[in-house]
Amino acid sequence: MSDIPKTMRAAVYRGVNDLRVERVPVPRIGAGELLVRVAACGVCPTDIKKIHYGTVPPPRIFGHETAGIIVQVGARVRGFRAGERVALHHHVPCRKCHACRHGAFAQCPQYLKTGITAGFEPAGGGYAEFVRVMDFCLPGVVKIPMRNSFLEGAMVEPVNTVLKGVNKLHLLKGDTVLVIGQGPIGLMFTRLLALRGVNVVATDLMPTRQRLAKEFGASTVLRGDTKNLPERIARLTHGRGLDAVVVAVSVDALVTQALALVRGAGQVLLFAHTKRGAVLPLDLATVCVDEKDVIGSYSSDITIQEEVAQLVFSRRMDVRRLITHIFPLEETAAGVELAAHPTIKSLKVMVTHGPR
Ligand SMILES: [Zn+2]
Ligand SMILES: [Zn+2]
Repeated sequence: MSDIPKTMRAAVYRGVNDLRVERVPVPRIGAGELLVRVAACGVCPTDIKKIHYGTVPPPRIFGHETAGIIVQVGARVRGFRAGERVALHHHVPCRKCHACRHGAFAQCPQYLKTGITAGFEPAGGGYAEFVRVMDFCLPGVVKIPMRNSFLEGAMVEPVNTVLKGVNKLHLLKGDTVLVIGQGPIGLMFTRLLALRGVNVVATDLMPTRQRLAKEFGASTVLRGDTKNLPERIARLTHGRGLDAVVVAVSVDALVTQALALVRGAGQVLLFAHTKRGAVLPLDLATVCVDEKDVIGSYSSDITIQEEVAQLVFSRRMDVRRLITHIFPLEETAAGVELAAHPTIKSLKVMVTHGPR
């Protein structure tokens, strides 16, 4: 492969709030690996937290919602060719260990290793021109159909995490679920729950996001600061309470509110509380007597990858509406800033270079 350069540009994390575009070596691949030229990479809240709080030591190259073109295929790799357009997954479980046998893929030791890198300690690498996909991450590689864009491909990973969360809810058709927060993640929950025949009550503070929630299938849209929310919910559920609440905003008080709104034996799903140390008083009888469950969902599930690809590429989960801002690789830091401080016009932020 003579057209692969020796060096490339990458946005390197050098310390808290310090992303610098530097020239770094193009990664070399082993016999069981792929080299992918990155076309698009989504800016994910978990990366933002690492950059803002410095929870992992620098230097690293972040970005794990990555799509691009295969430019080099290791000698032992089967099933992939140079030139194929693909979406990547940086965490892939072994499917053999104790955690995996319980379906707890995000707790698998192999899953916890990041298998995609643009150099330094592997951290996704999507904010660079090329990434190396290690052998254990090949089962997570998805081919992007010709009619779909790299931007859509880059959304497969976040949609997977949301569908995994939806699957953790015990719901029947016609149930009522509150989705708190209509950012990119909340809107995906709204859409995927609506596709399951669930009545979605969507809340957000921003009118633009409230409007989109309606278009994504919410049956009721309320302002996030609605004063009489408990009465509204009681009316909507014939006094039963909600079957489940998805908390897609990392505000701790919302968890207490969610527990009050959910019916006996209902579920409260935490999706945005990724920062350690947040504590909350909990009336333990709500768990024991009322049988209310507080559950969590983190990261992706390899077993639903096909279904997710179908949903995204058929556009039943049309992610194009969610992508509002595209930054060139040189401006990765600005993209991360915007994603960290969303405006009324911003939803999903992408970093791109080359074809989309
Ligand atoms: Zn992510
Ligand atoms: Zn495992």
